[in-house]
Amino acid sequence: CETWAFLKMKQTWPLRYAGVDADLSVLVDSISASQVTEVCHSRNLSDHQVTARCFDSFGGKKRARLIEESKKKRKRYGGGAQGKRPSSDGSDEESMPLPNPMVGFNLPGYRGPSMTRVLPELATGPPYFYYENVARAPKGVWAKITRFLFDIQPEFVDSLHLCAAARKRGYIHNLPTENRSPLLPLPPKTIFEAFPHYKKWWPSWDQRTHFNCLQTCTASAPVTERIQQKLSSSGNPPPQSVQKYVRHQCSKWNLVWVGKDKAAPLEPHEMEYLLGFPKDHTRGFGKTQRYKSLGNSFQVDTVAYHLSVLRDMFPNGITVLSLFTGIGGGEVALHKLGIHMRAVVSIEICKANRKILRSWWDQTQTGTLIEIDDVKSLKDDEIASYVHRFGGFDLVIGGSPCNNLAGSNRHHRDGLEGEHSSLFYDYFRILNSVKSAMANM
Ligand code: SAH
Repeated sequence: CETWAFLKMKQTWPLRYAGVDADLSVLVDSISASQVTEVCHSRNLSDHQVTARCFDSFGGKKRARLIEESKKKRKRYGGGAQGKRPSSDGSDEESMPLPNPMVGFNLPGYRGPSMTRVLPELATGPPYFYYENVARAPKGVWAKITRFLFDIQPEFVDSLHLCAAARKRGYIHNLPTENRSPLLPLPPKTIFEAFPHYKKWWPSWDQRTHFNCLQTCTASAPVTERIQQKLSSSGNPPPQSVQKYVRHQCSKWNLVWVGKDKAAPLEPHEMEYLLGFPKDHTRGFGKTQRYKSLGNSFQVDTVAYHLSVLRDMFPNGITVLSLFTGIGGGEVALHKLGIHMRAVVSIEICKANRKILRSWWDQTQTGTLIEIDDVKSLKDDEIASYVHRFGGFDLVIGGSPCNNLAGSNRHHRDGLEGEHSSLFYDYFRILNSVKSAMANM
């Protein structure tokens, strides 16, 4: 109860940016790190110069100028206090500024402004925690999630910078952000690197190099039939209007060219590959289920990059509390990093997903896997007994459902209080329950 009240108070945690103490409220309310980067990059400054010039002089004239520029930028986007960008579907989207490029604190080959963060004591591990959800959520959602999760700023990453498919996600965690290492080999970064055989039928006027976010459903037969019919009744190249229509459908549904005038959805095994899962990870289930599970999952290489710091910290392996496990994106990432999972307590409501995880676990792991159906059923006494049995959890990981946050069905985009998305509060509740049980060990 004390923790709850404490967390509900608006705190201004001190952050240390490149050696300069800055107050979080200053950073959020007046200028964000990402906006600083944008301004500095637009002036062709190197990363080093960005760091040195933008953050070394937060108190002086430069800061005033940067704030002025960021205000102009917000105005251009029609923004409010934290900047608001137009959304593709015209809805009122998240007001927390999304960085551009969306590379988080760093990614292999990309560095954001160098940042050493000092987390509030209440937020530091053990346990480490890692929370994920869609980056483009309705207005105020990330601000609220952030407030609940100790005012730690989200790390927004588009997996497009690491693999051949976009996936814009926000991650809030208390992991160190230095000395990360990617899974090797690095995944293919373009469509043709991933699937060279599709070059054969790919029309030159379809210039996609990356897939859009892989979704939970795919194009129906009428969509692909209509494309084929439009193209076969046009010349070569087809008129601009037909090209535009086809390009739009191909981007929207992530279609690939599998024959003359023939576009088709990605197969589930191709999605497994793009998302970093082992081949046939979801095989044995119907296609609809496979698309759904894969469409909801982590991009393994992205998550593994963030989790890689755990390898040296836990040479003897880790114990994990995995909420909303899905098909085990977090577990696959840890395994690929070579981190032994001594025990995983996994909570996942979908039976097919549990079977997928169990089958992968039995083939690859020697540790203990305990499966629970519903986060709502996991109460303090049971959590305390697992904490006691495993000597605490090293990592509490999970991405709660985004059903009410993302997608084109605006009817159900009712924000964090929506039926599914409100499960975030269970993540928060369970994390705090683990923390207090561990404090009493
Ligand atoms: N990170 C996962 C996917 C998370 S998607 C992965 O890599 O696969 C959110 C998951 O939460 C879905 O798999 C959904 O089935 C599950 N879920 C929804 N409601 C739940 C509940 N009440 N308890 C546990 N899991 C739930």
